[in-house]
Amino acid sequence: MKRNTIVIGAGAAGLAAGSALRAAGQHVTLLEARNRVGGRVWTDRSFVEQPIENGAEFIHGDRAMTWRWVQGLSAGTVPIPKYTSYAYEHQGQLHSYQQALQWAGFQQVPCLEDQIAQADLGAGDRCLSDWLAELNLAPPAQHLVGRLFANSHLTEPANLSLADLAHEAKVHQAGHGNFRVAGGYDRLLAALGAGLPIQLNTAVQAIDWQQAPVKVVAVNPQGQTIELTADQVVITVPLSLLQQQAIAFTPALPQSKIQAIQSLRMGAAVKLQLVFSQPFWQPEVSLLVGLGAIPVWWAPGYQRPGFPPVLTAFVGGQSALALNAVSEAEALEIGLNDLCRLFGNHVPRQLFDKGRRISWLDDPWARGGYSFVTPGAFGARHVLAQPLANRLFFAGEATVTDSNPATVHGAIETGQRAAREILQSSGELWERQIRIGGDSAD
Ligand SMILES: Cc1cc2nc3c(=O)[nH]c(=O)nc-3n(C[C@H](O)[C@H](O)[C@H](O)COP(=O)(O)OP(=O)(O)OC[C@H]3O[C@@H](n4cnc5c(N)ncnc54)[C@H](O)[C@@H]3O)c2cc1C
Repeated sequence: MKRNTIVIGAGAAGLAAGSALRAAGQHVTLLEARNRVGGRVWTDRSFVEQPIENGAEFIHGDRAMTWRWVQGLSAGTVPIPKYTSYAYEHQGQLHSYQQALQWAGFQQVPCLEDQIAQADLGAGDRCLSDWLAELNLAPPAQHLVGRLFANSHLTEPANLSLADLAHEAKVHQAGHGNFRVAGGYDRLLAALGAGLPIQLNTAVQAIDWQQAPVKVVAVNPQGQTIELTADQVVITVPLSLLQQQAIAFTPALPQSKIQAIQSLRMGAAVKLQLVFSQPFWQPEVSLLVGLGAIPVWWAPGYQRPGFPPVLTAFVGGQSALALNAVSEAEALEIGLNDLCRLFGNHVPRQLFDKGRRISWLDDPWARGGYSFVTPGAFGARHVLAQPLANRLFFAGEATVTDSNPATVHGAIETGQRAAREILQSSGELWERQIRIGGDSAD
């Protein structure tokens, strides 16, 4: 039976849900508040003469499901060897991986993410920092690991649920390694959503799911309030928009859902992109791990001949809040000072051409970077992901339960999961009908 679904949001999860439903012969409409698709995947081609990523940067894992579209497009990718291609600040100087191996405890650092799967949770959930402390790493390695975890999870290890991270380490199937999409990450999402009916500049304000059909109230590009109806709705808006009640639900969401939404956290993320007249860092270095205001700098041009000399600061958690609390000019100044300190000279300032700050905190349709789980809140992602009355379905990176939350491939998987739930709820056979990859069955 052909049913009618509205998908709210045309990021990775929404595009995946839409393309899977359409491939199953369902009628689907996507409503997207922005003037573009992709959400937190946002490739920019206007700042420098090559594609640069304002949001998601890497495919995390050599088996992540995103590879389907990489292969379909024959898109070039650049592997970023984890840890071995990084440089590390230590005692006021940058050290190569080989040099860092000489520090006490450093050898353990690259294995820690996998070791979390074996963490002892016998006495219940606890924070990542407790587990890290038990490892008794030597101080420089301990400090480095704490900063790396805090930056990538957008919060201090003391705020991270060990149970959630251990679960992720056990269940995810995406493999290892990080990869850049040479032509831009957005190409993959464009392929995923090709041909889908998407209404851009259309922000959903309210959903009445009292009875079928579900009523969706939105503001269209002309500023008019419109009402659409559907058999069911897939909600993929970022966690923070649910937390801040950007969409009014009638009836209100059940208490268990509200609790799950409020117990999850949205981390702060900021990027600085600094362009130089020529590179002053070593070409074999993909990423700089610093001990100052900027925890991580990476080189988008790593192994990409002809890419302009750009360094990107990827900053999460407290450091991101600090960078966001000042003006853009001051934030760039903090970045430049950090580079001069790291390199021990004024060359970065002398070669500086232009820069900008990308604040995901100030982005009205993201209001943060990505989600994390605090100690004791493990399970909240599962509750958030549960459908309601076969009318409301939930997808998006915060709803990942069996893969990697906070990633593009994880978000895609949730969109496909929501499509599967819809088809199963209406008695359709998922396996027979879905041709993953977005082929239309029309
Ligand atoms: C700085 C940064 C770096 C990252 N780096 C990586 C990385 O290297 N690798 C990786 O895999 N992941 C990375 N991520 C995470 C990844 O980008 C996200 O997990 C993923 O893109 C989320 O997809 P989504 O569909 O769940 O949400 P989104 O992409 O946020 O999509 C939700 C959509 O809903 C829309 N929307 C919101 N409110 C409304 C409304 N009221 N009405 C209509 N539409 C609405 C939004 O505009 C948006 O398009 C990064 C994220 C950030 C912020």
